[in-house]
Amino acid sequence: MRIDILTLFPEMCERVFTESITGRAIKNGYIDINAVDIRKYAEPQRKGRVDDAPYGGGEGMIMQAEPIARCFEDIAGNSPEKPYFIYMSPAGQTLTQDKVKELSERKHLVLLCGHYEGVDERVIEELVDEEISIGDYVLTGGELPALVLADAVARMIDGVLSSKEAVEGESHYNYLLEHPQYTRPPVWRGRQVPEVLLSGHHANIKKWQREQSLIRTYKRRPDLFKKAEVSDKEKEFVENFIAEENGEKD
Ligand code: SAM
Repeated sequence: MRIDILTLFPEMCERVFTESITGRAIKNGYIDINAVDIRKYAEPQRKGRVDDAPYGGGEGMIMQAEPIARCFEDIAGNSPEKPYFIYMSPAGQTLTQDKVKELSERKHLVLLCGHYEGVDERVIEELVDEEISIGDYVLTGGELPALVLADAVARMIDGVLSSKEAVEGESHYNYLLEHPQYTRPPVWRGRQVPEVLLSGHHANIKKWQREQSLIRTYKRRPDLFKKAEVSDKEKEFVENFIAEENGEKD
């Protein structure tokens, strides 16, 4: 898997690629992530400038279509197959774990980071396959959203995390939120680690973790709970648990 991030601020991205799990995955060759400076594709007479004032007036500047197109086409021309081109945009579809999984199955992603007021619409119409938002708020640039997407995709690639379970047990994988986690010491500021986790009884621990995951998802994200694979017996268990907690049962 290769990811190219088209940006006006490559250094902002490069530092992130040297650290932690993503850094190790790149070093070990599981994934190749590059930051590409769009300014290198500026029209020669504009001396590295790639933005201009918006037609119709208004605040801020707009990134021009041509330098972005040249940058993408240069990368695509050196790639064995057409890369999937994504514009990070607050007007795109919101990123979900399902989308992350789908993208992780592609060979080559190119992520376009906008800045200022955004990019000329014509380059989106001409070349972009999809617009993706990381949430209903606006950031100053697309670099953080692109890094969020790249990080989420990278951890889905085989070999990046130490085991398959590390991915599958995590929040959102099967529309469930993960159960609470604890580490040493067993008592911290008077708060005990749940007894079952200290018992060494593997089956009981698994059962408790599944129940906690169901309860947490039902309470915090009923929208996800509806999509998760939950048996009738488990659903009944959660409903009874919540009713008891709310004092609705004798
Ligand atoms: N004028 C644009 C609008 O109202 O939709 C916002 C432009 S924003 C200040 C500059 C750039 O940040 C965008 O072009 C986009 O690349 C990025 N950006 C900001 N918020 C984002 C979000 N929630 N998800 C993805 N990208 C975002």
